[in-house]
Amino acid sequence: MKQVTYKGLTFVPYLESEKIQERVKALGAKITEECRGKRPLFLCVLNGAFPFASDLFRSVDLPDAEISFIRLKSYEGTASTGVVKEVLGLSEDIEGRTVIVLEDIVDTGKTIHRLVEDLKAKGPADVKIATLLFKPEALKAPVKPDYVGFEIPTDFIIGYGLDLDGLARNLPDIWVLSPDHDK
Ligand code: IMP
Ligand code: MG
Repeated sequence: MKQVTYKGLTFVPYLESEKIQERVKALGAKITEECRGKRPLFLCVLNGAFPFASDLFRSVDLPDAEISFIRLKSYEGTASTGVVKEVLGLSEDIEGRTVIVLEDIVDTGKTIHRLVEDLKAKGPADVKIATLLFKPEALKAPVKPDYVGFEIPTDFIIGYGLDLDGLARNLPDIWVLSPDHDK
């Protein structure tokens, strides 16, 4: 069976690149329809969301769409630290604009909740959440993503931006920690 190993942990195939691309295109088309006539600002949450943001933004067909980047971090190893830090701030004026936050994954939801609260304080017309992956069973914050690529169980995954301590973000496919990892 195909597998990859990082830091002594073994990962097996989970979502293939073709399937991810197909789903991201569908999300882009949906956002295009729903944001027609608007001037949305896409806000990519670094580091993990960069491939998703790149693919999604290029599948959005709106002449006034813009993208910007913010950096947050709340994870160490394979478990959330629960501490959300804003590392790199927002420079755009978002007053009166529709902001679409782009996340790789919503796990406990603490990261996105904190970010959405901070953004709402800046007077946007609307703040929407688009996430490639969503782990509804892990949710601990009052957030409801507006656009979801895939709902998944509480597995630990890597690839397509998702990392294990900074590694594996460059994998085109998404891989899951092997169920045999602790045997
Ligand atoms: P939350 O605040 O618990 O929702 O965590 C969100 C952040 O945790 C994401 O942006 C990811 O960086 C990281 N994260 C959550 N689940 C995973 C995973 O399965 N693999 C890698 N990173 C993850
Ligand atoms: Mg992240």
